[in-house]
Amino acid sequence: MPLGGLISRPSEIFSSLRTHKSTLMTNKSILATLAIFCLTTVSVFPQGPAADLVITHARVWTVDSAHPEAQAVAVLGDRIAAVGTDAEITAWRGPNTKVIDTKGKLVLPGFNDSHVHFVTGGSQLDNVQLNDATSIQEFIRRIAERAKKTPKGSWILGGDWDETKWTPAELPTKEMIDPVTGDTPVFVGRYDGHMGVANTAALRAAGITAQTPDPPGGAIVRDAKGNPTGALKDAAQDMLFKRVPALSHDERVHAVKRALAHAASLGVTSVQHMMATYDDIAIYGELRERGELTTRIYAAPLITEYEDLGRVGIRRAFGDAYLRIGAVKAFADGSLGSRTAYFFEPFSDTPNNRGLLSDEMQPPSAMRDRMLKAVAAGIQLCTHAIGDQGISMILDFYADVAKENGAADRRFRIEHAQHMAAKDFDRFAQLGVIASMQPYHAIDDGRWAEGRIGHDRASRTYAFRTFLDHHVRLAFGTDWDVAPLNPMLGLYAAVTRATLDGKNPNGWFPMQRLTVAEALEAYTMGSAYAEFQDKEKGSITPGKLADFVIVSEDIFKIDPIKIRDVKVLETIVGGKVVWDVKQ
Ligand SMILES: [Zn+2]
Repeated sequence: MPLGGLISRPSEIFSSLRTHKSTLMTNKSILATLAIFCLTTVSVFPQGPAADLVITHARVWTVDSAHPEAQAVAVLGDRIAAVGTDAEITAWRGPNTKVIDTKGKLVLPGFNDSHVHFVTGGSQLDNVQLNDATSIQEFIRRIAERAKKTPKGSWILGGDWDETKWTPAELPTKEMIDPVTGDTPVFVGRYDGHMGVANTAALRAAGITAQTPDPPGGAIVRDAKGNPTGALKDAAQDMLFKRVPALSHDERVHAVKRALAHAASLGVTSVQHMMATYDDIAIYGELRERGELTTRIYAAPLITEYEDLGRVGIRRAFGDAYLRIGAVKAFADGSLGSRTAYFFEPFSDTPNNRGLLSDEMQPPSAMRDRMLKAVAAGIQLCTHAIGDQGISMILDFYADVAKENGAADRRFRIEHAQHMAAKDFDRFAQLGVIASMQPYHAIDDGRWAEGRIGHDRASRTYAFRTFLDHHVRLAFGTDWDVAPLNPMLGLYAAVTRATLDGKNPNGWFPMQRLTVAEALEAYTMGSAYAEFQDKEKGSITPGKLADFVIVSEDIFKIDPIKIRDVKVLETIVGGKVVWDVKQ
């Protein structure tokens, strides 16, 4: 009888498990000794507990540079107990150990998406889907269909439409959707979140007329006569969002549960929720208490709320393994797709426009002031910045903050870091700023970005390789629901840079491609570092949380073009199987 199974599992064992090497060496030498006397029972384990879960016959890619590859993993409670060869890990098996024989499959650390809009994403799974509408007729048809099923008084929201998929690539207008929607208010967003189109009922609800001035940091798109077309850019969208009824408690719970299930099915074991509302965080807290969070969450409310965190003394990465807060999300500018990203030079195709600073930057000193205070209160900064000047201004502020508050491990982040000025790569590195990027955007925007900003600026767009060359840390994610949550699409995008239109099979600015190992590291260790959790997760290392995935194909060996089709077979969070493709 394997002795390991007889030994109970004291909680103190966790601390001793953190010393991977010595644990393994001890086991190994004991086994070697035992083998001499007892050739039949290799599972005899005279010391320590049996594992709760063992993964065997795998190719484990650990993302731990000290031990990059292994065959098997043992899990005790919610932590990784040992990583090694099949023979070494066999020693951890007891009568109650759950064993997953992967039959040679690849095992990776769980994916950590460094930038999601988790509740919007969950709601979006139930909203009207417009992203794959490839004509304006199809856009209208789907809204009409939804309008028929929408109860009186409810809004039609979501959408994620993308006019670049239509010919001609015209923005939708209220006139296109009014005839099929009547009194049902509609506000459907462009997939990048920086523009939406409203019908007349929705504009009326928000009181937007030809006389309404553009708000700071936003624009009401108007026709030749000055009447609103229905399209609203950036801060102008808020005038409408204010009128949309908030999700009820139950609706929000439903959205989070949809999002959790979706994340589990894709191998996403941690997410960093940018712009989380307090209502979102309250739902996470409820689910956490009931043990129903199957994805670990770091939630960052808007920077305009930093005082609340500061008042109760919440500092960066405060919380437990499932739910943490202590970061804030700020906005420097808009997006390239909506022509509101803020550049030093005008857009190549609209010579009088170089983008918009966000309402938080009106004036820029307001942002600087907020950042100084938030950092003094110990809060981490995650700032959306896309245009080269938008990014540059935020780097200026980060430099000021560092100077005024002295040296510390602050892990400043720039979200998207999309269009870099050549001079700013070094500053990123010097200030220790993390580039939190979403590779899928590169193969999506890559279809048309060069037309908007020209060849030179496009060469520093989603510049993954240049960032690594400058020793800047990358954290990868998706910006879901702006892009799909599936990490395989992100890895595929970073490794191939093959644009979605099929026009760049060898990569759009191929010099910026990453290897599979580099992309994977950004999506696991990089993201963990970006949320101060690199000691807790991000690699398959003894002592860390037992979050990993078993995938259908070996992404290191297949043609990179096939990475996008790879499926997650099982997702394990804290040692528990939260997704099994067979169930
Ligand atoms: Zn975002």
